[in-house]
Amino acid sequence: MITVCLLRRHLTAYLTCQQPYLTVDMRAKASDIKITQYLNKNAGDAESTLNVLNVLEELLSSGTDRRIHYMISQGGSESLLNALVKNGSRFIPNYTILLPILYLVAKVGHKDCGIGKKAEEAGAILLILNLLKNNIQHARRAEACLLVIQVFATSVSTAKLIASNQGLDIIYNLIPNYTTKNLQTIKASINAFAALLSSDNISSAVSKGYVSGLLLLYEEWHSKDTKHSAIDILQALLNCFHKIVRSAVGRDTFVSQGGIRLLYHTTQTCSLNICQGLLVESSVQLMRWCLPKTPLPLRSDQSVYCFPLPRRHHLLDVVASDDTSGEIAGDKMEKDYQEAQSKDYDDDLETDLKKLCLRPPLDRPKDLLPQYSRLCPELSHDFLEQLELSSQGRSPSSSSSDDETEKCNNLSLHSFRRGEKSAVFSKTENGTSGQTKSAASLFKAKDFYSHTGILNSSAEVGTKARETRKEAKSGLTNDQQNNKSEGNGKSYNSTMIDSLIDIHGVDIPYHEPRTYHAAATKTKSVPGFTTLAFPDFWGQVPSPENEPMAPRKLNIQRQKVLEDIQRFLKTDTINKVVFDLEDDSLQFPPDKPDSLRFFSSFECGNLRKAIQVRRYEYDLILNADANCSQHTQWFYFEVSNMVPDVPYRFNIINCEKSNSQFNYGMQPVLYSVQDALNGKPQWLRTGTEICYFRNYFCPVRGSQKTTFYTLTFTITFKYKEDVCYLAYHYPYTYSALRAHLNLLHRSVASSKVFFRQQIICPTLSGNSCPVVTITACPPSKCDKDLHQLGKRPCIVLTSRVHPGESNASWVMKGTLEFLCSNDPIAQALRETFVFKIIPMLNPDGVINGMNRCDLSREDLNRQWCKPDPILCPTIYHTKGFLYYLNSIGRAPLVFCDYHGHSRKKNVFLYGCSVKETLWQSGSTVENAGLKEDPGYRTIAKALDRIAPAFSFNSCNYMVEKSRSATARIVVWKELGVLRSYTMESTYNGFDQGIYKGLQINTRELEEMGMKFCHSLLSLTIDTKALYGKSLINHMNLGQNILDHKSHNSFEDDEPPCVEEIEYSTESPGLKGDDLELDINRCMANIDAEGSTKRQMSGEIGGYYQTFTTVKSPTPSPDNAGVH
Ligand SMILES: [Zn+2]
Repeated sequence: MITVCLLRRHLTAYLTCQQPYLTVDMRAKASDIKITQYLNKNAGDAESTLNVLNVLEELLSSGTDRRIHYMISQGGSESLLNALVKNGSRFIPNYTILLPILYLVAKVGHKDCGIGKKAEEAGAILLILNLLKNNIQHARRAEACLLVIQVFATSVSTAKLIASNQGLDIIYNLIPNYTTKNLQTIKASINAFAALLSSDNISSAVSKGYVSGLLLLYEEWHSKDTKHSAIDILQALLNCFHKIVRSAVGRDTFVSQGGIRLLYHTTQTCSLNICQGLLVESSVQLMRWCLPKTPLPLRSDQSVYCFPLPRRHHLLDVVASDDTSGEIAGDKMEKDYQEAQSKDYDDDLETDLKKLCLRPPLDRPKDLLPQYSRLCPELSHDFLEQLELSSQGRSPSSSSSDDETEKCNNLSLHSFRRGEKSAVFSKTENGTSGQTKSAASLFKAKDFYSHTGILNSSAEVGTKARETRKEAKSGLTNDQQNNKSEGNGKSYNSTMIDSLIDIHGVDIPYHEPRTYHAAATKTKSVPGFTTLAFPDFWGQVPSPENEPMAPRKLNIQRQKVLEDIQRFLKTDTINKVVFDLEDDSLQFPPDKPDSLRFFSSFECGNLRKAIQVRRYEYDLILNADANCSQHTQWFYFEVSNMVPDVPYRFNIINCEKSNSQFNYGMQPVLYSVQDALNGKPQWLRTGTEICYFRNYFCPVRGSQKTTFYTLTFTITFKYKEDVCYLAYHYPYTYSALRAHLNLLHRSVASSKVFFRQQIICPTLSGNSCPVVTITACPPSKCDKDLHQLGKRPCIVLTSRVHPGESNASWVMKGTLEFLCSNDPIAQALRETFVFKIIPMLNPDGVINGMNRCDLSREDLNRQWCKPDPILCPTIYHTKGFLYYLNSIGRAPLVFCDYHGHSRKKNVFLYGCSVKETLWQSGSTVENAGLKEDPGYRTIAKALDRIAPAFSFNSCNYMVEKSRSATARIVVWKELGVLRSYTMESTYNGFDQGIYKGLQINTRELEEMGMKFCHSLLSLTIDTKALYGKSLINHMNLGQNILDHKSHNSFEDDEPPCVEEIEYSTESPGLKGDDLELDINRCMANIDAEGSTKRQMSGEIGGYYQTFTTVKSPTPSPDNAGVH
């Protein structure tokens, strides 16, 4: 007794910090050891043991878990288990001692991952079951045993051992029907039952009918618990279900016993207080997990658009040494895509200094390079003639870009090696004649689909429009019969277009509908589009209003998921297919009063199927990338026949990315033809109730594990007779690019600006891939000026290698317009540099509404190491051109490839740096002596100051292994271009700078393109202009803001979503902490069991009382039997 008193005083001294020179942990260590030793030594003396236990409990209840872990490391668990066995196996156990031991075993064991095994070795398993059986009528004791069982069952083998000794049955029978008594013990029973549900035990629980039993219990408790006092019990039961559905047999049983229906029903009657909210959350997770996987309602996962690739034997003839290209015909793409997806997140920095610094050899024979000399027209151009002409006031005879197109088509074909040439010819013939169709003749018959209602509303064009529609219909029939409709349409259409433009036209800079129409007739699509999307034809201006990010409605995902579950339970859904690319009768359905009408057979369109599921709700399925069975994310389609002022819900049900900016304030864009005709041709951010979550669909064939995500949004249309377009992001078609380049060409002051549009090569389906040269004409014909032109460094810019990244095209549009402008900075840049711009590296992908790949099924931005000349011609020739520039000593000063980023906000750069890569990877390679020009940071620093959309903090310069075949890394490595970048633009908006909180639109994208040009001033001798007033004035910043500084951008992707996008089997309300809380509560209430502590109080003075008062606010439940 004296020893204990001393020990306690000693301990109290420690705890009250009378020896401040000892750290808390030192104090804990010192006393813990003594106590456990003491516990073992004095196991026979009840009172001493009790005192030791109390001291121990005090010690472990304060401070951090480190005390417990220290105790475990010193054999504390074993000591406690021995004490438990010793005291518990007495004929009549002394519960005054046993109870504190049980609590301590639970408390310490909960932190000891080896507790199951230790308990088995100590012989505590059967003992605890026996104790439980003997105390079924004694709530407090039973609860203590159940807590210990929960802890023991964390080991699978222990859980199995308990179950094989009827543990499962004993505990199941402890769970009563609804009652208001002993709720804590009941909760402990249910949690112990859940803890025992390892996979083996689930089968046994299923076979004994316990799953349906638990469901009945849940139903009863839920219906009778009107005062919400049994939330814990319900939560614990849900926790059991979460464990059960983790196994297939458990899930099947749960579903077949009506689990989903029951949970759905109970969630409908839940009120929305916080506690019940947890129940609903947990129930929704469970239901999502259990919904049976449903294949997409398609005939096949394969894209509707199929383009025959050049055959293998052609490849063998041409590039016999290159074996990898043959795999393309296989299913390699799917694998690659999965890898690419996962690698997005990988920390796969290249740490091999040799590899980082090694320049690989040329990927082709050197004598293939001179063919690209034609792409440097500024070097061979006869400026003499031009200067003379312009001095005579005549416009110089610069060749029209269209002529150039034809010429260059031939040129590029001729420039192949002999063997390749035939392959390319046969491919091109194959492609153009057999599969892709130019829209040239077809457009005459039919330009717009489903617009007649609106066009009718204008008296002037009404008649003509109606006639056009008639023509369109007959043209269509002809299309379907023999693909020849040249004879129809005639001049009606052009008259209609003229009238429309005359009456409703809006002056849009660098856009002209007729030019667009003309460009579109030359565009070759795989399906042979004959219809123009109105927005692309008519043009758009950015909204004059700010468009803030959409606020996320509380629990919106839960609500949407519940609506989806309702479909599974009720059969009142309509499920009517209203649009199907593969079913001609559904592509042009007659107007039905009760259904929306969909259409997407136009450039960049990619809706595959639309299913009306409820009166005002549609499931939409996107077409996979042509020749592929996946890559769905981008969307663009037309919708009409709407009822105004009614919210329509749209669900795009086969999205692939695992998260989306749609969960973080992004809205889709909508274009109303009615608004456009009323003078507001605008793509506007639209949609409410937006969320993006994992659904229960899986591919038609292929892995059931592949899951899709739903993007859901609700649109309320304004007008009755409207045709609207919905898209993932502001569309920018290939035809738009061609039209834009032609207009730019016409707009430039040819005496000052050298602008030349050429074709780098034809694409697989026979479209032209344009390359533009922009520089300043020499000021005079003297040799010095011509010589200076030849010495101007090159800036090479590319974009839109990924067709779904239309934002990249808008940035490029801004760049092109600025470089062609009269702005003095543009003139200065032209005089300093020669710009070589390939604005669309993947025309075929863009045209056919693809998201990621090319017709060759490849992600073209993973082909730069060794691009295939036949399958990836645009990359092959762009790289060849870069090699050529290098070979004549004109390797670009800057290379930048414009992209769009789907998971981040703002605009930022990725570059390449050996030092930063090694440093970031924590590489031990000695790189102190490594010299690296820090110039790769100059542009980002400049952009940070002048571009409001730009985020310096989001930039990085790591060289990742998984990105080793991207343009940025290959150009950096193989061509030694120090400033080689990827510029990523958000789809969503900004979380920093003056645009913070706004969604991006084409104005900011184009501005970014201009700002990128501005930043190039940082590379010139005269950098003063960069920070001069003129640039800052461009930004409209107001007078007080002189400098733009970016900050507060997330290093990683977005923080976790408020609501889980993925569903897990973890019940949201029940984590490990819950058990700990229960144990602590029990320990705090221990004096309800007896007068133990009151006996002690005389000895320890006021300390203990203070301690317990602080610690135990919970009133103790009735001390009666469980049943
Ligand atoms: Zn990209």
